[in-house]
Amino acid sequence: MKTNNKKTAAIQQQDRLDAYLKANRLRKTAERDAILHVATDLRGPFTAQQLLQRVIDSVAGGISRSTLYQTLRLLEQAGIVQRLQLGQPQTLYELKTSHPQCHLVCTSCGRVKTVTDEHLDAFMLTRRYPAFNPITYSLTVTGTCSTCSRRARRDNTV
Ligand SMILES: [Zn+2]
Repeated sequence: MKTNNKKTAAIQQQDRLDAYLKANRLRKTAERDAILHVATDLRGPFTAQQLLQRVIDSVAGGISRSTLYQTLRLLEQAGIVQRLQLGQPQTLYELKTSHPQCHLVCTSCGRVKTVTDEHLDAFMLTRRYPAFNPITYSLTVTGTCSTCSRRARRDNTV
């Protein structure tokens, strides 16, 4: 079931890219498709460097850094990928979803995990704000990831 949903999402993103390329009279290229495919496969937020590494690993012949950055910009303009503003030193990207995202940011190592919180969604649906019509929300939770928690415990017991 999960695999099917993922497959459907990948097809939707490919359709969106194709429509954007056509509307803007841009060429559909194997590199653009490959970058979208890898970005869709990555779980959670990624840096441009991480995306580049994964594309190099999976595409025969690899791609250039400038092609990757140009394509990332194009995917952003097409509304497929979004830049996250989480105060990280490196720019993080993530696939745009129609569902609100909750980002868990580790203040020790900077790792970011994306989760969906059904309880929060249900709560947010009930919220009303004066003279405002909400569309969606985003939430950043800062804290410590399990790896950093374990490390801190280990360091304290030595
Ligand atoms: Zn951490």
